[in-house]
Amino acid sequence: MSKAAPSVPDTPQPEDASIEDRLYTVKYKDSGESHLGIEVPGICAETCTTYECTNVCPADVWRAEEGGVPTIAYENCLECGSCRFACPHGNVEWEYPTTGNGVSYKHG
Ligand code: SF4
Ligand code: SF4
Repeated sequence: MSKAAPSVPDTPQPEDASIEDRLYTVKYKDSGESHLGIEVPGICAETCTTYECTNVCPADVWRAEEGGVPTIAYENCLECGSCRFACPHGNVEWEYPTTGNGVSYKHG
């Protein structure tokens, strides 16, 4: 009698996986304080018209809010750096999370 094969968890195939599936494979360790911020909130509220930070982020960290100053769900940050360079006003404060915190990838 042959033994049953061990079960292997499903890994989403890149060509089939939704953004949500892919984000599910990422693990975050919350440092408890944001490594992202806004230099001058008034620039977001009164000057910015494009909200590139909310458009460019692949993890939906930056969210547009009434009043014009985005909220930042820093715990989901993938540390790609895009928001830092996309802001046309240089208004994004950006640091890596403190050592041992932040994102880690389960597959490579
Ligand atoms: S793109 Fe820059 S200035 Fe505009 S809302 Fe985002 S952080 Fe503020
Ligand atoms: S570094 Fe990348 S993932 Fe993190 S908030 Fe900026 S755009 Fe989003």
